[in-house]
Amino acid sequence: MKIAVCVKQVPDSWVEKKMDGQVLDRLGVDAVLNDLDEYALEEALRIVEANSPTGAAGPESGHEITLLCMGPERATEALRKGLSMGADSALLISDPALAGSDALSTSLVLAQVIASGGFDLVICGTESTDARMSVIPAMLAERLGWAQLTHVHKLDIDLAGSTAQGARSTEIGVETISAHFPVVISVPDKINVPRYPSFKGIMGSKKKPLVIKALGEIEIEADSVGAPASWSTVREVTPRPPKSKGIKVVDTGDGGNQLVAFLEEQRVI
Ligand SMILES: Cc1cc2nc3c(=O)[nH]c(=O)nc-3n(C[C@H](O)[C@H](O)[C@H](O)COP(=O)(O)OP(=O)(O)OC[C@H]3O[C@@H](n4cnc5c(N)ncnc54)[C@H](O)[C@@H]3O)c2cc1C
Repeated sequence: MKIAVCVKQVPDSWVEKKMDGQVLDRLGVDAVLNDLDEYALEEALRIVEANSPTGAAGPESGHEITLLCMGPERATEALRKGLSMGADSALLISDPALAGSDALSTSLVLAQVIASGGFDLVICGTESTDARMSVIPAMLAERLGWAQLTHVHKLDIDLAGSTAQGARSTEIGVETISAHFPVVISVPDKINVPRYPSFKGIMGSKKKPLVIKALGEIEIEADSVGAPASWSTVREVTPRPPKSKGIKVVDTGDGGNQLVAFLEEQRVI
């Protein structure tokens, strides 16, 4: 089984984000592996471990996990983290022409490398913590013509039957959905608890293959991606208004009534 895990490098969630003109300043801040993509990788590792003769991921498992990323060259740091968690190899698509790519361009690039990779499963996080559109997995499935099992908080893989079955919570209950390989899956953070890279994993990750390819190497024309080709444009950016002071309720006998009045005013009750 060949599994691709799509991972993105994003600005550290704990640092204050700034805009650089109409786009997020991604270069001036610390960058990390998108938290939510760690759950996608953890799920891939668990699938391989459950189907490995040795119970472990890695070359002896007979299965392969490849990390896929589109981003600047420094995204290799995020990929090394994924490799240290247990992925076998990583591919970064990096090219100056990709700057300003919107979701359509991003999905075009990722779908191109997935289509030629012979993958059975593609596993993504549910969203990136910077742009938060939650659209890439569906766009990948559409571009590839594959089934999609999105937002599944429980996943079962039947390797013999080449099927994936997932459970997805909706407003009215839990849906059970299934699809034959190849399939694009996205997983939320309640699906598992990602492992920390071990010392052995960190040391071993330095020897694992991490390939960087430019657009020409994946046969995508530079003018079909990046800012000029993007369908969406950020027209205006407005900073979030500063937090206003809270209201202090001093209980002099009518504190309860004051709280109820406040909640009514806010339309909470
Ligand atoms: C006009 C415009 C200009 C932009 N310019 C830039 C720019 O210059 N640089 C920039 O970084 N972003 C830029 N963006 C944001 C970029 O388009 C999105 O970050 C990207 O398309 C993915 O969408 P998302 O982050 O909302 O992913 P989501 O759909 O929320 O992500 C879901 C999952 O898809 C996978 N995924 C998402 N993105 C990637 C990726 N790049 N590689 C691998 N897996 C991925 C991950 O598994 C992730 O958990 C721009 C957006 C717009 C609208």
